[in-house]
Amino acid sequence: MAEVSLREVTKRWGAFAAVDSVSLDIADREFVVFLGPSGCGKTTTMRMIAGLEDATSGEIVIDGRVVNDVPARDRDLAMVFQNYALYPHMTVAENIAYPLKVRGQSRSARYEAARGAARRVELEDLLDRRPAQLSGGQRQRVALARAIVREPRLFLMDEPLSNLDAKLRTAMRAQLKHLQRELAITTIYVTHDQVEAMTLADRIVILRDGKLQQIGSPLEVYDRPANVFIAGFIGNPPMNLLEGTLADGRFSSEGIDALALPGALPGARDGRVVVGARPDHVALTAPEEGDIRGTVYAVEQLGEGALVTVEAGPHRLVVSAARNTPVREDEAVGLSLEREALHFFDGDTGERRE
Ligand code: ATP
Repeated sequence: MAEVSLREVTKRWGAFAAVDSVSLDIADREFVVFLGPSGCGKTTTMRMIAGLEDATSGEIVIDGRVVNDVPARDRDLAMVFQNYALYPHMTVAENIAYPLKVRGQSRSARYEAARGAARRVELEDLLDRRPAQLSGGQRQRVALARAIVREPRLFLMDEPLSNLDAKLRTAMRAQLKHLQRELAITTIYVTHDQVEAMTLADRIVILRDGKLQQIGSPLEVYDRPANVFIAGFIGNPPMNLLEGTLADGRFSSEGIDALALPGALPGARDGRVVVGARPDHVALTAPEEGDIRGTVYAVEQLGEGALVTVEAGPHRLVVSAARNTPVREDEAVGLSLEREALHFFDGDTGERRE
């Protein structure tokens, strides 16, 4: 079992803070995903937890013990990286058993454990192969089995699926989630892919420029993004974000005339605002009937539905529509916004307004 806490953890290189005073608590058996764009400090945070990087300040606590000065090998955790770092001259069984060899376990005990771990990731039939004779997904599972075999108290995974093709990634995602539940080992997982974060996480930790932006369950960050950055980052297709001004309960922006938003924002201050509407909460109407007038820019067929992009002044809004929606490019349409589902952010700070 493992609980992990970061207390105002900072990592600087010179004047640059790659991780800036991050505090968070991870519960035993929790699956936590660190999510953010490239360079936001995800990997550095994980490497500090692993003991591969020293924190400049702050405390890293595992199971109640400050581990800042504990070497990586004594932290009892297993890491899985994007490049699986398998030994090419060893068989699958030898690769999986290797951590136990380092620990000095007997040959028979090692192979027994390796077979058990291989079974968990459905690799039993490939134990005698070498890494060069495996597909990307199979190599990834060898790396996973090698982490499992150690029975660590904590798993750290850094973009372990990013080298796989889209279909395999989706399949491995479900397998990984199932496995984590089965093994009940606290897991920290780094990705820049919001779909991966939404699907895998018990809680998502969103970072930007080394700073913590929000921590919450996938639905919490989806339903109540704390700022404009998160609103635009979580969700596929992303939330439509309209910058403009609010005055007397009316929203105006270039190409959008005084859109009445009665009661949508109790206590809202007038001034600069960003209104957010997910594509599911915008509907196509006849041109004269909607809140906003525009022209169809593109229609993308998805099979289960269609995405219709509509231009209104400088804005482009994406609408989730039925697959057989009868609209064509350049056609004039109206858009109506579902009032109760709108998000409002401060136009200056980007913070969510309540
Ligand atoms: P990615 O998704 O691209 O891996 P990340 O969120 O994991 O990004 P980090 O690898 O944690 O980002 O890097 C955070 C910042 O720290 C980046 O701006 C990076 O350039 C910088 N950085 C990382 N390692 C070093 C180093 N050894 N020296 C100086 N700067 C570094």
